[in-house]
Amino acid sequence: MHIETDPKLDFKDVLIRPKRSTLGSRADVDVTRTLKFVHTGAEWTGFPLIASNMDTVGTFAMARSLAPFGAMVALHKHYDADALVEFFKAELAANVFYAIGTTRDDLDKLAAVRARVPVTKICIDVANGYSQHFLEVVTEVREKNPDAVIMAGAIVTGEMAEALILAGADIVKVGIGSGSVCTTRDLTGVGYPQLSAVIECADAAHGLRGHVCSDGGCTVPGDVAKAFGAGADFVMLGGMLAGHDECEGTVKYAEENGRKVPVAMEFYGMSSDTAMTKYYGGVANYRASEGKTVQVPYRGPVKGTMQEITGGLRSMMTYIGATRLKEVPKRTTFVMVGAQRNTVFDR
Ligand code: 5GP
Repeated sequence: MHIETDPKLDFKDVLIRPKRSTLGSRADVDVTRTLKFVHTGAEWTGFPLIASNMDTVGTFAMARSLAPFGAMVALHKHYDADALVEFFKAELAANVFYAIGTTRDDLDKLAAVRARVPVTKICIDVANGYSQHFLEVVTEVREKNPDAVIMAGAIVTGEMAEALILAGADIVKVGIGSGSVCTTRDLTGVGYPQLSAVIECADAAHGLRGHVCSDGGCTVPGDVAKAFGAGADFVMLGGMLAGHDECEGTVKYAEENGRKVPVAMEFYGMSSDTAMTKYYGGVANYRASEGKTVQVPYRGPVKGTMQEITGGLRSMMTYIGATRLKEVPKRTTFVMVGAQRNTVFDR
């Protein structure tokens, strides 16, 4: 048994220290990035925020509404092949990841869709990115799709970030147990504080010219700002994008002045009882559900939430004097709060 005693931090354990700057207004900052991917050499420009590949938020409608912000969607894997083919013919496909698991069915469906329509970005997503089988699938998907940008995870440590990039991933997806409807930490005791996971994985991935996506754990726009400050090239959101018109899931209505108005929406983990029952007829008896089902307040169109997120990020950038999103990690100094109070560390 071994105990690591270095501090490992979550978003809530830090704040970002303001810095002197000559920036006049938050309108002067640029929240887009142009990224060049290590395996394909392809470039992408946009606002590097990704709606999670959960069936509640990783929807076609979400992709259409995030496109004007330059943001991305990882589509959930339960759309059928014909619907995916139709969708990937659209202009906004450059901002969309086709998400898969690691089953033979997933790989066959991907091949069938790619034979009919170009898919430029693939997300290979499993709960535990530490298995040998997962690495083998990443290697296989890279071999069969040399021209596609591949994001793969989830992992939380530098050595696994390196292994995935060397196996063919352009972007590593970082976060185990960090999700708002995830119960992995309670059920298994496994996890890693998200901010530290991002810092450590970004360090490893950037050394190999790979990129990092922070997945899970953001509950307010300030957490998105902290994830970028920690070195994330992309930030993936589930819960913060739930409860909107673009989401799928049961809506709860209330009577108001004789009218039925939406007040809440169902949001659930992809390995919750709700998802397992919907897609597989229940949770297999050798496993336990590692996700929960919650009701989130209904919040109307996602545009309002996106404006809050970009507004928070722009403001943070003026506080630290970063003109471009790319400069944010270099200009970020986190201050530890709470138990670790008064300790300062630079990215
Ligand atoms: P959030 O932004 O809601 O905090 O986190 C979203 C992330 O939670 C997803 O992108 C995914 O990685 C993770 N997640 C989604 N459903 C489940 C689940 O049922 N179990 C676990 N362990 N993680 C989940």
